[in-house]
Amino acid sequence: MRLMLPGLFDLQVNGFGGIDFNATDLTADRVVEALELMRRTGVTRCLPTLITSSFDRFAPSARVLARLAHPAMAGIHMEGPYVSPEDGARGAHSRAHVQPASIDDFARRQDVAGGRIVLVTLAPEVPGAMTLIEHLVAAGVRAAIGHTAATPEQIGDAVRAGATLATHLGNGCPQMLPRHPNVIWELLGADALFASLIVDGFHLPPATVKSMIRAKGHDRTILVTDAMAAAGCDAGATLERPFAGSSAERRYTIGDVECELGADGRVSLPGTPYLAGSSLTLDRAIANTVRLTGLPIDAVAPMASTIPAAYLGMTTVGTVTADWDSDAGELRITP
Ligand SMILES: [Zn+2]
Repeated sequence: MRLMLPGLFDLQVNGFGGIDFNATDLTADRVVEALELMRRTGVTRCLPTLITSSFDRFAPSARVLARLAHPAMAGIHMEGPYVSPEDGARGAHSRAHVQPASIDDFARRQDVAGGRIVLVTLAPEVPGAMTLIEHLVAAGVRAAIGHTAATPEQIGDAVRAGATLATHLGNGCPQMLPRHPNVIWELLGADALFASLIVDGFHLPPATVKSMIRAKGHDRTILVTDAMAAAGCDAGATLERPFAGSSAERRYTIGDVECELGADGRVSLPGTPYLAGSSLTLDRAIANTVRLTGLPIDAVAPMASTIPAAYLGMTTVGTVTADWDSDAGELRITP
């Protein structure tokens, strides 16, 4: 079935096509190269995402992204450094650089980013989080909850302060949780929060994807890739097409974090059970979600285009022609 879709919009992408947006030697040409490669997966707009790091590491990437005039670059998603220091909740973020939330620190980072930070993911339980959320909202920057082990009360406070998104719901939380109440149920049940999901087959089991989308509703679900440099590479493996390269060829970075691409496409911190971004592409996220939920493609595609755009108060860019093969459950983007 031939489809004309609004351009896809990825709210969370750490790198693509061998290029790491968190690298200190990032250049404008490299970002453009990554954006052009993402275009082949249907993405016409995105938020390059900078994760927890020291200001000195953050600044070079932020400066390059800030100066970039490219229609696909819609702003910066700053994920951390105001996140949980706990193992599990912290995910692949560096413990050494996790810090309390601070309006001054944010102002310094926003300044070096030329005002282009439009989304900040933080944990409600870190000191200063509520004040910063109120500050962000007043400045027109979206506040998202993620990498958190917050209590129900802290999540309620963050929502009242103006947080509007649960970042990669079901990931970036403690490995072990009480059955209820817990951070996942609280974020899922908070009607004021959109939820972003990483539907790569590794971050969330099928029944979880299905249940989360039913609970949030189609109009408050956002598909993201959380992709890192391994995504979109020739070496970028998929479940259907495992990567046979050597283990050295499967090493990538997100800033100063070393990650390993598994033969099945799973990206993890070497020697740990922790996921570290993904090698997912947004067209595959749509196809995976259709397969896992049984929802029609026209209900799922907006979760990766118009819904994230509207969440940010933005629009999508351009149109993408694609073929949907319902028997194979595959979406093929026409270049
Ligand atoms: Zn994350």
